[in-house]
Amino acid sequence: MKGLAGRRALVTGGSSGIGQAIAVRLGEEGVDVAINYVGRPEGALATKEAIENGVARCMEQLATTGTKAVLVAADVSDADQVRAMFGEVTERFGGIDILINNAGIQIVGDTDALDVADFDKVLAVNLRGSFLCAQQAIRGWLDADRPGSIVNVSSVHQVIPKPRFVGYSVSKGGMANLTRTLALEYAGRGIRVNGIGPGATVTPINRAWVDDPVKRAMVEAHIPMRRAGDASEMAAAAAFLCSDDAAYVTGQTLFVDGGLTLYPSFETSWSSE
Ligand code: NAP
Repeated sequence: MKGLAGRRALVTGGSSGIGQAIAVRLGEEGVDVAINYVGRPEGALATKEAIENGVARCMEQLATTGTKAVLVAADVSDADQVRAMFGEVTERFGGIDILINNAGIQIVGDTDALDVADFDKVLAVNLRGSFLCAQQAIRGWLDADRPGSIVNVSSVHQVIPKPRFVGYSVSKGGMANLTRTLALEYAGRGIRVNGIGPGATVTPINRAWVDDPVKRAMVEAHIPMRRAGDASEMAAAAAFLCSDDAAYVTGQTLFVDGGLTLYPSFETSWSSE
């Protein structure tokens, strides 16, 4: 894709799923990639696994393309850690040209019984984290008088309500306005801000259904294209949006969802005949 080779990117949540696929795709396009992951102080097994299996695999693939890849640990919801992460990436790469706000979590539960802390946590990682990283990236671009591009990894749930995932739905709805507001605020200064809206994608966040054939068939039956998406399909859209092929595109969310946002229940007409 045009204009990607030689650029430098930071991908948050780059140790798994869609973030890993985006990091690898950008690496294939010749972009130097800083891969963010969150480290837990007590060295929890999940993080160890993410580092050993997720980030390490990602690093191996990037190494084969001749692209530079570095690891940067930070909890994106923590302003001090985000500031330190940008400092570290600037030291290693001299700056970035592309920010992929991908880190995300979801917590399920009936809203009436939901722990307030769980609501706050999802908002803090998905929305506040994206804001904090965007702020640091934009400051760097304005200080250096350089152009830049942000891709927010949102979700179909920025437009489709998701009952029992209220924090997630709200965070992704907020991400739509984060994308549009930043795009308008900085369009005149060479900074583009876009989003991708993945539909149901085969990644660890969906472990509740991806490995269960019955549940997976139920999920896929709701999708007009009758299949879940692959992380590499999300990565292709993200790479396009931060490339010069999308040089005149800003403030948009590109849904990559097999038709999920097309009101699938209207596939056969049930209201007018
Ligand atoms: P995933 O495989 O669970 O990956 C989530 C990533 O986020 C991991 O790399 C994780 O890092 C990172 N992360 C979590 N909390 C973090 C924090 N506080 N600070 C920094 N990184 C953190 O999920 P995924 O499916 O690839 O999801 C990636 C994004 O796509 C999310 O924003 C999600 O909402 C969005 N999305 C996914 C789907 C889908 O169907 N999969 C659909 C729509 C949108 P560690 O591994 O180090 O914990």
